[in-house]
Amino acid sequence: MVRVVRTSCTYHCAACGLHFHSLEAFDAHRVGDHASNDPETRRRCVHPLDLDGKLVLLSEDGICRIGGPDVQVGVSVWTSDRRKGTRPWDAPVRAAEAAGGVSGA
Ligand SMILES: [Zn+2]
Ligand SMILES: [Zn+2]
Repeated sequence: MVRVVRTSCTYHCAACGLHFHSLEAFDAHRVGDHASNDPETRRRCVHPLDLDGKLVLLSEDGICRIGGPDVQVGVSVWTSDRRKGTRPWDAPVRAAEAAGGVSGA
């Protein structure tokens, strides 16, 4: 008996309705300043496709149970590229980054 396990949305963005599999991926699509009211600089969503490959599509047939009253199936779930990215729980990597070991620009 084969049970199909669908990739699920674990970090749902209520603002743009996209689905993410990690907090890092979710964070990556949110840019701008929390305190700003300026549409140009305020906290906003950027589509993963506009993030220069920072986020990758984990599944196009994912499931979302947290985006609304109804379960959504067949959704695109985004994640960060583990080969390039760093994980929040990856303290040594973050420390190296803070020390200037990794430059985003
Ligand atoms: Zn969003
Ligand atoms: Zn979702």
